[in-house]
Amino acid sequence: MTFKLYNDPGHGGSDPGAADNGIKEKDIVLKISKKITDILLNEYQDVQVKMSRTSDTYPTLTERTNEANAWGADLFLSVHNNAGGGIGYEDYIHESLSSGSRTAKIQDDIHGEIMKVNGMRDRGQKKANFHVLRESDMPAVLTENGFIDNKGDSDKMKSQAWINDVARGHVNGIVKAFGLKAKSNGGGSKPSKDTYTVKSGDTLWDIANDHDMTVKQLKDLNNLSSDTIHPGQVLKVSGSGSGSKTKYVEVLASSLWVYNKPDWNAKDRTVKKGNVFTIKRTLTVSGSKMHQLKSGLYITDNPKYVRVYEK
Ligand SMILES: [Zn+2]
Repeated sequence: MTFKLYNDPGHGGSDPGAADNGIKEKDIVLKISKKITDILLNEYQDVQVKMSRTSDTYPTLTERTNEANAWGADLFLSVHNNAGGGIGYEDYIHESLSSGSRTAKIQDDIHGEIMKVNGMRDRGQKKANFHVLRESDMPAVLTENGFIDNKGDSDKMKSQAWINDVARGHVNGIVKAFGLKAKSNGGGSKPSKDTYTVKSGDTLWDIANDHDMTVKQLKDLNNLSSDTIHPGQVLKVSGSGSGSKTKYVEVLASSLWVYNKPDWNAKDRTVKKGNVFTIKRTLTVSGSKMHQLKSGLYITDNPKYVRVYEK
């Protein structure tokens, strides 16, 4: 069964939310929410995430709850920062819910996991009559991740490490509450090509067999002209589970950016229509898929701009 998260970074666009100490709530919560999406899609099985916004825009509260309801989300998660003279972290469920309710149990898990990692004062688990908690058809939790008008809390918000930790805390709470299973390969972070060091007595046939390859594929991959191998020799082999085929990406757009790290802002250079690159691995960045190329550069998976094929 697929778990569907409606991931709602609060505010956005014309509504900055709280603002103080040189930062705005709408920017901080967007970073946290995007990181939550990345971790869930890269590391967990059977997860779908829909975000209320992925950039600096303002969907109304009604648009957000309508979208989550129409989509049939399993959880509405709204991420915020607080303001008004306090210090620390708190979270909310709707005021009509009992402490024994399913939503209250989800709040327990999310609260517990976030408090383990955020380094903030614990203001407790609360209830309120907020729109997103009231109008969503599914369990809904709203987190208030520190006070932007508190110097200590806002200093934390300025740190990417803190953003990552807090996103991880949200994810860990969701994983606990909904029993999500980790992907076996650690989120596709393992390179699809691996190496094998030849041991005494090994034959090409043994090694090929152990890695789901044919002898020809093994020889081609290593440019071997004979069947002779020797102990200690390092051979390239297909990574487990990746099959024996290599994936390629062909550029369809007349000109397309490639990136020097897994970040849509890290534009490096442009490539031209018809260029073909070997894919090393595929990952999700800010909710969209990106391929890491053999060269170490990154390219979009958007079928409007590229075509992916195996050979
Ligand atoms: Zn807010």
